[in-house]
Amino acid sequence: LDHEEFRRQGHMVIDFLADYYQNIETYPVRSQVEPGYLQERLPQSAPLNPEPIETILKDVQKHIIPGITHWQSPNFFAYFSACGSIAGFLGEMLSTGFNIVGFNWVASPAATELESIVMDWLGKMLKLPSSFLFSGGGGGVMYASTSEAFLCTLTAIRDQKLSVIGRENLGKLVVYCSDQTHFSLKKSVQIAGISPENVRPILTSKSDDFQLCPESLRLAIISDLEAGLIPLYLCCTVGTTSSTAVDPLGPLCDVAKEYRIWVPVDAAYAGSACICPEFRHFLDGIEGANSLSFNAHKWLLTTLDCCCLWVKDPSALINALSTNAEILKNKATEAKQVVDYKDWQMALGRRFRALKLWLVLRSYGVARIRDFLRGHVEMAKHFEMLLAADKRFEVVFPTNFATVGFRVSPSAIPNGEDVNAFNQNLLESINASGGAHMVHAVVGGVCDPTSGALDTEFCS
Ligand code: PLP
Repeated sequence: LDHEEFRRQGHMVIDFLADYYQNIETYPVRSQVEPGYLQERLPQSAPLNPEPIETILKDVQKHIIPGITHWQSPNFFAYFSACGSIAGFLGEMLSTGFNIVGFNWVASPAATELESIVMDWLGKMLKLPSSFLFSGGGGGVMYASTSEAFLCTLTAIRDQKLSVIGRENLGKLVVYCSDQTHFSLKKSVQIAGISPENVRPILTSKSDDFQLCPESLRLAIISDLEAGLIPLYLCCTVGTTSSTAVDPLGPLCDVAKEYRIWVPVDAAYAGSACICPEFRHFLDGIEGANSLSFNAHKWLLTTLDCCCLWVKDPSALINALSTNAEILKNKATEAKQVVDYKDWQMALGRRFRALKLWLVLRSYGVARIRDFLRGHVEMAKHFEMLLAADKRFEVVFPTNFATVGFRVSPSAIPNGEDVNAFNQNLLESINASGGAHMVHAVVGGVCDPTSGALDTEFCS
């Protein structure tokens, strides 16, 4: 690697990105291009000869930026955020710059050790019971996604259970969740070889703020046991995707414990907020769970990807996911002195994710990160208050965090117009304007017994 050329081109790319951020509000927030736009603009095959970075950056500006939806724009309000930060971006640069493949300790000791240290730091910031920390016999690992956390923990408990009841019983294993649980759970269930028909999305209701009800869970378990099935896994969520509902962890874990069910807590979005003492209560009851994960790349100023998973029993993961190839053998592993993260995950290769989170935690400090999170929640609460004071709008679910679900109220919609269609058209016109970007959700589906129709609420 020509370090002087690297320096020159690196400075150019940073300048390019700094200009991008300076001008970000001049771009339409949601990309306005039509499908296939890039095929028409770029050559059919790769260039035979090298091209200078200056030319390539010009093409990024001309052809790529129009096809970008600007997730870092201050006018981006869609999905859950992907809050970047200078520290997050630069941490990513450092990690990419070293370009190591830290599958086991010896492949880059700093990558493994920093990950374990940062996971314990974060666990302490969340006031997790010590049983989730390395210092207390548990431990944490960084993945790319919550989907991976689902799949790895499901695989761990699946194998643990089948080693007791026999592999032939795979088809009897049952996974519980609520109808608000993220759809990625179902995909992980399928990949883990568990029957998708054995997923029980327990109905929630608006009157219960879309929380999973422990009694409904118990009834579902009892009915499955009577049918000869075997309860395995109960996904609880802190901050569901469509309604930011918080499942009551304590009572749900109590039910799960009676039936020896593994409880993963998915706090993909809202976990970050729980580092603030005033929001920590959303994790009350976590001591009864088996694992907890959240995506630091959503709301903790860290770039994609960075999902943090803690488990009380790392051996469950290791038993299911470890490999022992000859080329990986080394003294530290054999002496059982080290964590080899390849045994905690699906892939062999792994990125040095801890570096960016370490940079974020050090550059901001816990106090400033808390203020940042609080600021978002305060803005959301303020917006919720403005909506509540305006008869034209209706707030659809309580604003627990920094996501506000609202719609134009049925009473404000001209007679005869469909409420959902009206809201959908309004949303599309906002997004098409390029001035702001929001997304819809459908929450509160209840079956109307008279018409049999699904009465849903469409909100932004
Ligand atoms: N769980 C919740 C609550 C989410 O909001 C999301 C994504 O937004 C996921 C899981 C899936 O996350 P990932 O894309 O990291 O797999």
